[in-house]
Amino acid sequence: MKVLVVGGGISGLFIAYELAKRGVRDVTVVEERYVGAGSTGRCATGIRASFTSEEHVVLMRESIKLWKEYSSGDLGRYGLQFIQGGYVWLARKEETVDLFKKLVSLHNSLGVPTRIIDRDELKNLVPQLNTDLIAAAMFDPTAGKSYVFTTLFALFRACRELGVKIVTGVGVRKLVARGSRIVEAVTDVGTMSADVFVIAAGSGSRELLKTVGIEVPLKNMPRHVLVTEAFQRAFDPLVIDWDTPGVPYIVQTVEGNFFVGREIEEEPEQSIYSQRIDFIPKALKPIAQLFPFLRRVRVLRYWIGYYVTTPDNHPIYGPFEEYENLYVATGFSGHGYMMGPVTGKIMAEWILDGKPSIPQAERLRPERFKRGQLIKEFAVVG
Ligand SMILES: Cc1cc2nc3c(=O)[nH]c(=O)nc-3n(C[C@H](O)[C@H](O)[C@H](O)COP(=O)(O)OP(=O)(O)OC[C@H]3O[C@@H](n4cnc5c(N)ncnc54)[C@H](O)[C@@H]3O)c2cc1C
Repeated sequence: MKVLVVGGGISGLFIAYELAKRGVRDVTVVEERYVGAGSTGRCATGIRASFTSEEHVVLMRESIKLWKEYSSGDLGRYGLQFIQGGYVWLARKEETVDLFKKLVSLHNSLGVPTRIIDRDELKNLVPQLNTDLIAAAMFDPTAGKSYVFTTLFALFRACRELGVKIVTGVGVRKLVARGSRIVEAVTDVGTMSADVFVIAAGSGSRELLKTVGIEVPLKNMPRHVLVTEAFQRAFDPLVIDWDTPGVPYIVQTVEGNFFVGREIEEEPEQSIYSQRIDFIPKALKPIAQLFPFLRRVRVLRYWIGYYVTTPDNHPIYGPFEEYENLYVATGFSGHGYMMGPVTGKIMAEWILDGKPSIPQAERLRPERFKRGQLIKEFAVVG
């Protein structure tokens, strides 16, 4: 079987890796720019299972198992690390504590041991936090982070070792269909044929699918992150300020720098090469209120990347009804990095076994939009 994967981000690489591990000999990843050039290289590295839909909780729970397994196994030997420092969801308001209690019940019923913590426990976990502003918090101890460049490097090496061809600097411009099959991809350097085509092209997916008449409701939404100077190791969890509009968050990297993100008003498809310097004070102000030691912090740089979003904030996964050999994995709505391992697993299962082993993934097929079977997720951060 010959598989062509379009997109060299976390999704495309994990799909190629899983296919090759399961014995597919001829897997090629075609990447327009360089590995990690899309949203993956711009992400904040957070990994969690504390979501609000059953589909997300279950898929992320399984993804976290894989992050752990891989970091101590074949990808760990090339440097992939999963740091399980948890996530802390801060509630400034009492009604948010009630919401968190309901979410804790959902998570616990699905095997994710989140819990409500009081200010004392919060202070132990995040000693620098000004807890005067906080009513209580939800703690997700299974969550964590994984530094994006070591992860990509590990995957790249493991893929190459398994015989995956990774072609960079080559864009796929259109797909060509004959009857119910895709027969080739037209690239910058000629055509490429395959038995199976997988579109994991992030913000480029929508336009590429249009070339074979498929419309998917994706929007490319600019999202921002800044990185500060480095500090001593301060706290492990990723901290989310749930009650502040735009849901600011902060996480310390393995090098000691802090990533700070917050959603600011943006238009879909706005160029990610424009500058929104106003983002810096907007993101830092609420975070410095929570962490007074960051009031005079130096910001080293900031960047913009796309959240490729769907109307229900869940990814679009699986095969299309229109074509028998065309698959998609995109629209992660800000959660595609953490989903990388489970994306690879279930896409490989779909291609090789005809269905994924996690039934919740079936509900995320592209047809759900035309059938009006949307599944709401509201715990979108940043
Ligand atoms: C600021 C920010 C913070 C984030 N934080 C987190 C986080 O903490 N945790 C989390 O899980 N997620 C986070 N995300 C989301 C996450 O980055 C994405 O969901 C994830 O990286 C998507 O991976 P991907 O492989 O599907 O897409 P991408 O990484 O975008 O990869 C797609 C690749 O396809 C290539 N491509 C596009 N079109 C073509 C074409 N026609 N031909 C060939 N190649 C093509 C692109 O160059 C790109 O490299 C964040 C995103 C942003 C922007």
